[in-house]
Amino acid sequence: MTDRYAVFGHPIGHSKSPRIHAAFAEQTGEAIAYTAIEAPVADFAGAWRAFVAAGGRGANVTVPFKQEAFALAEVLSPRARLAGAVNTLMLGRDGKLYGDTTDGVGLVRDLEAHAAPLAGARVLLLGAGGASRGVIEPLLEAGVASLTVANRTVAKAEALAALFADKGEVSGCGFDDVAGPFDLVINATSASLAGDLPPLPAALFTAEGLAYDMMYAAEPTVFLRWAAEQGARSVDGLGMLIEQAAESFWLWRQVRPDTVPLRELLRSEL
Ligand code: NDP
Repeated sequence: MTDRYAVFGHPIGHSKSPRIHAAFAEQTGEAIAYTAIEAPVADFAGAWRAFVAAGGRGANVTVPFKQEAFALAEVLSPRARLAGAVNTLMLGRDGKLYGDTTDGVGLVRDLEAHAAPLAGARVLLLGAGGASRGVIEPLLEAGVASLTVANRTVAKAEALAALFADKGEVSGCGFDDVAGPFDLVINATSASLAGDLPPLPAALFTAEGLAYDMMYAAEPTVFLRWAAEQGARSVDGLGMLIEQAAESFWLWRQVRPDTVPLRELLRSEL
């Protein structure tokens, strides 16, 4: 029987994950079926159990279920524990439910693919929500020298920075207190979704500075347009989406797909 995988979210209609995993399966010759499941907001666990009863082996989990997936998993990876969220579920051979998160490694792989400054870099992370929390440890592991978390709600930035204080030079502040220049500025707020730009000071980037927006769209986001005006190189989050998917695929199938062809294909379809 074909192994079944899915992405769970609410809403889930616009997810690119089925497209990405179908392409990975075709490329690698892995016989899997991958669908999108809109779980009821109040019953993620029930939707997961129904999926397993119908032959489900693993899943990606997106908004708003990453915390529910974290709670449901019987065995958590260290990186999922640190992120406080699970975006990848898999049934082990032992019958246990394993939870992991691949968002952080996805971001770092995409940054590496774009030759972003990482080792020794001064990094500014905008936003203190789930996406920010999931990428802090992978960025520190990639060797960044310092990480400033800036957020609209300052207390959330400070609390998030405190969580990682023993792992590296991490501090939290409000947008008003941001003091550049930075080698890398990552927008992990959802402001771009509404076409908003966090209030940022000019002279934010070093000469080789790079701006990264976790959001992606056919046109550059308002943040990336602003960064380009400041002279920074800019990259959106489409590659992060593809790289986190590739890591999930590897966790499930122990086969690593080539992400390069997918980058071009998905970009052309935006
Ligand atoms: P959360 O809802 O957990 O956090 C949202 C964050 O954005 C908070 O820090 C919030 O600040 C801030 N924010 C929202 N609106 C504004 C605004 N108008 N101005 C300034 N700050 C604002 O979201 P996530 O962390 O889960 O996701 C953040 C973004 O990252 C989303 O756009 C999401 O699509 C993207 N993402 C992309 C991925 C990819 O693979 N490319 C993977 C995961 C996420 P406050 O605390 O003050 O409310």
